[in-house]
Amino acid sequence: MPPPSARALTDMAEGQYLAGMNDALAALVRAQPWFQGLTRAHVDLIGAIRKCEKASEARGEVQSVQAMLAFAAEQPWYQDGVDEAEAEGLKGAFEAYAESLSDRNAPPIGPVLRTTIASGLFTVVDLPESREMVLLAAAEDPAQGQQALAMAAEYLPQIELLVGAYPYTFLYIMITDLPEVYAGLSYDEFITISPEYVDRQTIAHELTHSTLYGIFPIWFEEGFAHFMEYYLTGTLDEGAATHTAGLQVLRRGAQLDLRPKPGYDDVDYLAERAQGFLFIKGIFDTNGIDAVVGPVRSLRTRTVNAQELVWTFAQFGTAEQQQRLAGFVCQDVLGATRDYCAMAARARP
Ligand SMILES: [Zn+2]
Repeated sequence: MPPPSARALTDMAEGQYLAGMNDALAALVRAQPWFQGLTRAHVDLIGAIRKCEKASEARGEVQSVQAMLAFAAEQPWYQDGVDEAEAEGLKGAFEAYAESLSDRNAPPIGPVLRTTIASGLFTVVDLPESREMVLLAAAEDPAQGQQALAMAAEYLPQIELLVGAYPYTFLYIMITDLPEVYAGLSYDEFITISPEYVDRQTIAHELTHSTLYGIFPIWFEEGFAHFMEYYLTGTLDEGAATHTAGLQVLRRGAQLDLRPKPGYDDVDYLAERAQGFLFIKGIFDTNGIDAVVGPVRSLRTRTVNAQELVWTFAQFGTAEQQQRLAGFVCQDVLGATRDYCAMAARARP
């Protein structure tokens, strides 16, 4: 099938998006030089602008989307013509803004979007399973933003190959000061990284969070994000030494203990993530990478509780392998998970 003509694309843009836009914004879109020879990517960009306008209206303001397009149009990368990749990148910026406006738990990216657009801090990546998506960065130092984009473009396809599809259409990386205890934070497709931690391990860790956000219990999501940060950078032994030493400082053992803890506190939280990492590394050392990522892939379809998770791993492999694996989990936990799973199996229709 031949691609639709520029005329057909103009009709599509007018009918689907511009007809519903406020007049000033629609006039600004029509005034862009690229509007005279629309491609599919330009039409998708107009769709993202319309989506963004709706999200900003729902928040009771109508100026910011127009201001964002006007600001983009002033930038050197825009003024020499908006090619396909730039149209997709800018579409990603409008999608990210729309998402941050409509999801009240998402970080407000309005204040930092300026740096994304001014320096053209975006790139389109073709992922092995979920295909094309846009990586974007916000950074006061554009070189640091580019560095984060390059590392994310390297690791995201590898993470997808291991644990399955990246679940969003864009990823927005903000490089900005964080409270001292954090190297990075993530929420769905938004990542925040402290300027001192724009490094391979932190990026791999936060990308793992973004891919698996909210499915697993925290000890596992954190332990697995640590596992991926060391696995992807070839530093698993260094990771094991760091977390073993950390547990000694906390005066906690290395075995994962998921029994209910009265007065669960920060020490419990820190200990569980280190124990979670050592548990997962133990699976890797005993049974290899497929035994780690296979269950993660299959359990991603729903929210999973701790008992199911440990039991899924514990069932893997030969009796001898299970015996070795049991060394990473305290015996009470294994017993409790076995009882739980037997009960759950009986309860199923
Ligand atoms: Zn983390």
